[in-house]
Amino acid sequence: MTDWDEFGFNTRAVRAGQVRSDEGEHSEAIFPTSSYVFENAAQAAARFANKEPGNIYSRFTNPTVRNFEQRLAALEGGERCMATASGMAAIFSTCLGLLKAGDHIVASRSLFGSTVTLLNNILAKFAIKTTFVDLTDIDSWRVALQPSTKLLFLETPSNPLMEVADISALAELAHARNCLLVVDNCFCTPALQKPLSLGADIVVHSATKYLDGQGRCIGGAIVGPEKQVGGDIFAILRSGGPTMSPFNAWVFLKGLETLSLRMQKHCDNAETLAHWLEKQEAVERVYYPGLPSHPQHELAKKQQGRFGGLVSFEVKGGQEAAWRVIDSTRIMSITANLGDAKTTITHPATTTHGRITPEQRRAAGINDGLIRISVGLEDIEDLQADLRGLRLE
Ligand SMILES: *Cc1c(COP(=O)(O)O)cnc(C)c1O
Repeated sequence: MTDWDEFGFNTRAVRAGQVRSDEGEHSEAIFPTSSYVFENAAQAAARFANKEPGNIYSRFTNPTVRNFEQRLAALEGGERCMATASGMAAIFSTCLGLLKAGDHIVASRSLFGSTVTLLNNILAKFAIKTTFVDLTDIDSWRVALQPSTKLLFLETPSNPLMEVADISALAELAHARNCLLVVDNCFCTPALQKPLSLGADIVVHSATKYLDGQGRCIGGAIVGPEKQVGGDIFAILRSGGPTMSPFNAWVFLKGLETLSLRMQKHCDNAETLAHWLEKQEAVERVYYPGLPSHPQHELAKKQQGRFGGLVSFEVKGGQEAAWRVIDSTRIMSITANLGDAKTTITHPATTTHGRITPEQRRAAGINDGLIRISVGLEDIEDLQADLRGLRLE
């Protein structure tokens, strides 16, 4: 792999990982092939025995997928990347690769819903237990550690309340106890935050979100040291098969080329919207790490390049008022997806967090008046006008 250390982020985003074919194509080629032809029987044997590098079968070797993996690895500053069929497949493969029955995970309570289900309901069936703790309370992480703890898992900023975890402090805690810190870097992307440079061991992604950035494909990725990602995690990919398709890899590759530009614009719009929302009479509270009122604003300033494209806010009047604001929009898409060029608006209490009890919701701080917006790339004046529901009585 080319050493990309000497090049800047944007150069890597446009160039890293490309290997041109004999056709001299300028844009990256898509290789929709399941298998590969060998020169002779000896070469086939050498490939299968891992004695010679090269393609074997697209469940675990494909040039387009490798191109995406090498580009994302260069952006995150990791040795190795494995692309997966979805963000959930990335998290699942990481856990299956690194853990065995009897091992223990300490995880943030503020995680993507399917991640909670995966840890609670699925890994538990294989005797891998998880203790959930408060993302921002480092003591609660320390207290939850057990002799069998192998992995600490978190997302920062969290969804939908945008709490920010201290990655360096948690990495130190993890390493003092011989554990690995895994960070889901979906919300910031490497354009805004590089967990590996802050001490995290492994980064997981839902490429479905900002890496694609236009809501077209489902995909995921794992980035980290060759030892783990190229070892036990690759083994899960090779034999378990949660593989990314070459076409999706190509879409994500092209997404990475504009990642930095898009993230800057998402941040511009989100910052403007957050400050504007704070001034609206009908708004009780705004959750955005870029606001001085945010409890971890200083940490976010230190740890992130900027503050991201997601803004949550609570309107006065509970669910009825929140639904009125959502239903009176004309351009925002009412959907729970995020990280798209198109702005999306959602009511967490009745959608993403609708299946937990009202008590659990209240404990998590997700009130009935809460609205989450994934701020897109439209004109900010149009987005402000689209929240006309805030002005109605
Ligand atoms: C969407 C999401 C996932 C899951 O990704 P899929 O691609 O939908 O499987 C994981 N973590 C976070 C933070 C997400 O937003």
